[in-house]
Amino acid sequence: MRPKGVVVLGSTGSIGINTLKVMERWPDRFNVVGLSAHTNVVLLEKQIIKFRPKMVAVGPPGVEHLRRRGFEKIVRILSTADVVQMITLSAVDLVVLAIGGAVALDPFLTAVRNGKIVAPANKEALVMAGHILMAEAKKYGATIVPIDSEQSAIFQCLQGRNQAELKRIYLTASGGPLHRVALKQFRNLTVRDILKHPRWKMGKKITVDSATLMNKGLEVMEAKWLFDVAIEKIKVLIHPQAIIHSMVEFCDGSIIAQLGVTDMRLPIQYALTYPERLNSPLPPLDFFKLGTLNFEKPDLKKFPALALAYEVATRGGSFPCVLNAANEEAVAAFLKGQFNFHGIFKIVEKVVRQHKNITRPTLKEIYSTENWAREEARRYL
Ligand code: MG
Repeated sequence: MRPKGVVVLGSTGSIGINTLKVMERWPDRFNVVGLSAHTNVVLLEKQIIKFRPKMVAVGPPGVEHLRRRGFEKIVRILSTADVVQMITLSAVDLVVLAIGGAVALDPFLTAVRNGKIVAPANKEALVMAGHILMAEAKKYGATIVPIDSEQSAIFQCLQGRNQAELKRIYLTASGGPLHRVALKQFRNLTVRDILKHPRWKMGKKITVDSATLMNKGLEVMEAKWLFDVAIEKIKVLIHPQAIIHSMVEFCDGSIIAQLGVTDMRLPIQYALTYPERLNSPLPPLDFFKLGTLNFEKPDLKKFPALALAYEVATRGGSFPCVLNAANEEAVAAFLKGQFNFHGIFKIVEKVVRQHKNITRPTLKEIYSTENWAREEARRYL
């Protein structure tokens, strides 16, 4: 069997690093064809030496840096603006989308249109243009195997089942870093408090999204497209232990859940090896130590972003794109210390309320809507 040719976009982020860790254990099965990094050129250098990809893409200062250091002799160096060039290579079978934000839409679409297997850890692209990505995947015979732990769980629970039998999805949420923090303390929260997530170690943007529960809202929209279900069939369930990664209820009332240790290498490995399962170095789940699993209703007063995301998801059209773009701008500004934690929701809500929906936006309309939402958000900053 020829090893799978893999491109990892965002190879120096936490998902990218873990993806390479998984592939390293199976050198006969995977061949790293391409890597991309935004700015972390020091780590990228190490990855080039270790994995010997054909191509790498990096931000413009990184391109200069790698050339100066003589890397051109061993790898083709692209700027991230040309990243799609490595996705279209015939040696590429699978594309791991481990980059955050709307910038993933273009590479996602390219991968799908070239009939690749796409493993998205990114949710923003599906939120913005799920209807286009899923239709194009069908048209070009591309397979999408999600990496996001909840979507991976649902995907696994649905294996071998007929879509028509699906009654409900229980999308679990750890509750994020503010689950046990009282609402009245929110205004004193610093960026540092927010970045301490109790269960998952992730990038900054997604950790802030976990604190507002916007992350769960984006996942609701992502699940809608990935599994072709109506929004009202997707229920968010707070489950602080983050052991059940999500569940699926079938028409006969039977519920299938996917459980596992809280480690991203599990869904990453599944996405890389699907439909096979390979053994894993992760410790087994210890039910005796665990004792109990708890479930709670999400508090929408404390986390209005989740309620707004549900509203936007139900309205559909270009609304999710607006919510996402405004949120990206607001989170970036919050991380720079431009306003307090409550400010994130206030800005996103303001931008959403200004928007006039486009029911079935084209790609061009999605990009122009996105620009509009970002400008609008910046006006309120
Ligand atoms: Mg998730």
